[in-house]
Amino acid sequence: MADLVIADGLVVNASGARRAHVVVENGRIAAILDATEPVPAADRVINADGRAVIPGGVDGHCHVAQVTGRYRTLDDFAITSTAALWGGTTTIVDFGIPRDDSETPLQAARNKLALAKESRCDVALHGSVVSWDDTVPAQLEELAALGIRSVKMYMTNRGSTMADNDTVLKVMKEMVRLDGLTYIHAEHDAMIVHCTREHAEADRIGIEHLHETRPELTEEASVREVLAMAEYTGAPVYFVHQSTPGAVDLVTDARARGLDAHSETCPHYLVLDDGVYASRFPEWFACCPPMRSRKTVSALRGRFADGSIHTISSDHSCYDLTQKRERTDDIRQMPHGLPGVETRMPVAFTALSEAFLESRTGVETAPGTAATMDNEALLCRFVEMFSTAPARINAIPGKGVIAPGYDADFVIFDPGEARTVVASSLHMGTDFSPFDGKVLHGWPQVVVAAGTVVLDEAGFHDPGPVGRFLSRLGYRETATHPGTMDASAPLLPGLQAAAHSARPNVGAKAK
Ligand SMILES: [Zn+2]
Repeated sequence: MADLVIADGLVVNASGARRAHVVVENGRIAAILDATEPVPAADRVINADGRAVIPGGVDGHCHVAQVTGRYRTLDDFAITSTAALWGGTTTIVDFGIPRDDSETPLQAARNKLALAKESRCDVALHGSVVSWDDTVPAQLEELAALGIRSVKMYMTNRGSTMADNDTVLKVMKEMVRLDGLTYIHAEHDAMIVHCTREHAEADRIGIEHLHETRPELTEEASVREVLAMAEYTGAPVYFVHQSTPGAVDLVTDARARGLDAHSETCPHYLVLDDGVYASRFPEWFACCPPMRSRKTVSALRGRFADGSIHTISSDHSCYDLTQKRERTDDIRQMPHGLPGVETRMPVAFTALSEAFLESRTGVETAPGTAATMDNEALLCRFVEMFSTAPARINAIPGKGVIAPGYDADFVIFDPGEARTVVASSLHMGTDFSPFDGKVLHGWPQVVVAAGTVVLDEAGFHDPGPVGRFLSRLGYRETATHPGTMDASAPLLPGLQAAAHSARPNVGAKAK
């Protein structure tokens, strides 16, 4: 007898969709049966009744308990992972970013690994390097041995997280040697510093001027520079939070030349424009890069719909309004970043639905009046960016696909159901949402994580700290051996080691 069967769902993978029953045993997918076959016996049967059943979301870009300067994000792993599950995300990837000179990349990652033991969902980790010294290569080797196969570097934030070009080049070289991936926050620091100083001198440095201090050119200039470094070193590169069509097109062009480059965007860049800085609460929208012009947002949505953008991540950074309002008079003193791990699915699904419709009709859809289309192409594209590509690019085994052997992580939803965002009813460690009041489609109705039903019509069922630390594979190792992402292969050694070192195996979880 199976543990769980999701009966008669429209089972959607990035590659296609079909009506089927999904059979779960020991936290994994045991079988997919055609919907015309009888529903097998199970401890629990959930009738999906034709609703979409998609792989649990993989959010490749979350900042949990992040300390930056004098601010710390307000959530921990228990809160972030709970909010993630509410929002249909069953795997989060956090960063071990050194908080200052006193913390090494390895220490930063180890600290996060310790905190992650409270997670309700599975967790993977990116490393981060701020400055080069002779110990960095050995530290990167140790990170790789821990299953941390990517390193994030910032091209801006001088004096805090910024890495200089020498460091970026050397780390890229190391990541090639260690078969890892380089993550880049691309904004041109010198131009931003210059532009910000001019604004300060003109007394235009409050939050309402944020977007003016970081023009689109500064993002694109940095992407261009980093792509040249990636070409020089041969390093695969992943650009976080691309906010302009120009930045995305640079990645597209680089790929056409044979570079291995990836483009990520975030929900807020698809549904909010720089008009928010003239709104009543501009501090809700303090993030870098800032929101862009309406025209840019519209063009970015086109890139989202046509597949030029590869992943959608939240860049979840949970500050509250007390922190946000302390220094709205000076953007240099404010904490930047938006809460979003819980709202990633509905915002991204709504934006994609609208962008699909726009690309077919040529008519712009007013934000908030989502056109829902439960057609297969839309659902498959959504799954690719929300779950499959983040798992594949980050080489996280067992995730992002509904197939036998993969982890039993699912979301059931009805693409036609609309809800209004009410910040006070969300579960993140903050008191606002930049999407408050928006009408969105694509809300999870049932969420299953590692075979356990955590959200259903009865509400949320806290599974306790059962999340596992997921050891990642090598980047090229994964790309060149597609079988390694097909978890019908035996449980991968890295995953076993990680489950052993950090977490009880999910199979040992109390039922
Ligand atoms: Zn970030």
